[in-house]
Amino acid sequence: MSVLNPVDEVTSLSRPSNFVDGGWEESRGDSHEVLDPATGKVIGRAPRSGKIEVERAVGVAEAAQLSWEATPAPVRGELLRTAMGQLRAHRDQFASLMTQEMGKPLRESYAEIDRALGELDYMAGEGTRLEGSTVPSRRSGHLVMTQRTPLGVIGAITPWNFPLIAPVRKLGPALVCGNAVVLKPAQETPLIALALAVLLRDAGLPDGVLNVVCGSGTEAGAEVAADVRVAGVSFTGSTEVGRTLAATVSGRLGAVQLELGGKNPAYVHRSADVPSAAGEIAGAALQTAGQRCTAISRVLVDHEVADDLVRHLSEAFDRAVVGSGLDAQTDVGPLVTAEHRDRVADYVRIGHEEGATVVTAAPTALPEGPYHAPTVLDHVTPQMRVAREEIFGPVLSVLRVSGADEAIRAANDCDYGLTSAVFSADLGTALRFMSEVRAGMVHVNHGTNSEPHVPFGGVDDSGLGAYSIGQTAKDFFTELKVAYVRAP
Ligand code: NAP
Ligand code: MG
Repeated sequence: MSVLNPVDEVTSLSRPSNFVDGGWEESRGDSHEVLDPATGKVIGRAPRSGKIEVERAVGVAEAAQLSWEATPAPVRGELLRTAMGQLRAHRDQFASLMTQEMGKPLRESYAEIDRALGELDYMAGEGTRLEGSTVPSRRSGHLVMTQRTPLGVIGAITPWNFPLIAPVRKLGPALVCGNAVVLKPAQETPLIALALAVLLRDAGLPDGVLNVVCGSGTEAGAEVAADVRVAGVSFTGSTEVGRTLAATVSGRLGAVQLELGGKNPAYVHRSADVPSAAGEIAGAALQTAGQRCTAISRVLVDHEVADDLVRHLSEAFDRAVVGSGLDAQTDVGPLVTAEHRDRVADYVRIGHEEGATVVTAAPTALPEGPYHAPTVLDHVTPQMRVAREEIFGPVLSVLRVSGADEAIRAANDCDYGLTSAVFSADLGTALRFMSEVRAGMVHVNHGTNSEPHVPFGGVDDSGLGAYSIGQTAKDFFTELKVAYVRAP
């Protein structure tokens, strides 16, 4: 075990390194800087790995797979519990690194750690719940049963917006189900992923069971997807990349799980408690500066209450404090990069050109850096790009509708289907929206915040394969073996 805490071990590495076979390996190629979006300062470097590094990591994982799958599942679960203890012990270091690496307010980084602990807790318990079934045999004296066996080496590819949870959501179930892993974290947030690997090493994970290979998606990520020794790839990121990746992985008959983008609608019925709905929507739209796959990004509101809702929303958006994530007052931190901020700003301009109205106040003094003011666009119509495309920033589009028929039609007139919400005091309307909306998740009278032990996923362009988290996660990370047994 290291004398340093995992975060210090990673940030004090003298050379940019991957974590392979339980130790640090320098990449042969280039490296890239990891920046603090709030200050633009370099906080670390990570390797820009390619084929050689990925092949090496997959080989190591393949070699570790056999003994890891032979480790009893409850013991694998206990190891996750030990790791949870370490994460609790190093909360402050993880939270601070997460905010520096990605920009989110410190209190959200702490919330992300708590969420990761919740997800790990469920997965630790899965070690004692990886049950199979018995099936009545037509032949006397025969026993027929199903067992869950590990899928094999997992490729995990993650985005930057949840630097800790995104990897944990894949590593937790992969490891408890008996799989070795090669993780390719987002280029923006490799340090937290490396610190997580150290944490698991210190919790007793055998060498080679988890390997972290840093680099770009088009180089390292694509190599992970293409490697025939990788039995399954679990990917979280954009729909565009997910589509290409799924073609590669399924082309070689690998298993693929995709968690993709969203354009999540909230319908506010004329019977809703408007101030409460506005508070829930603003919270769900602005958390992580809107860089959340589950952010509410479209509001469908009945004409009768539209002016009132828009006023409450714009007040809440105008009140939100924009600043460095390390500042305790901050509600909305910087966006992850300047390029991403420019992309978000472009959408606001496009919305305006398409005829939408910006109803939030013009930002007077944004801090220096990749910040974007929380913005509400009113009078958006279904064909506008700001009604259809994922903006992934603190921008909310409001579409005015005449009742539930139009709201449901508008909600479903979209390629995505991740999450959704309905605000209504009328139970019939809420139940109807719940049953007719095309979405993996639906929230009634609250924002789109999920829980750490409940299946999570999307339909249509928002996802493919078994839902992650909770009872469905094991469906991706295991396969079934059917055994026919006759006493000799
Ligand atoms: P992204 O650009 O799709 O990247 C996701 C990951 O895939 C990164 O590690 C990326 O590497 C890698 N990648 C890129 N091209 C690849 C390729 N050709 N082959 C293999 N891997 C490749 O997404 P992002 O910008 O990081 O994250 C934002 C997106 O993620 C949004 O669309 C958001 O909705 C979605 N998301 C979905 C969920 C969910 O659970 N449904 C959760 C969070 C985020 P680089 O580091 O080089 O980019
Ligand atoms: Mg990217």
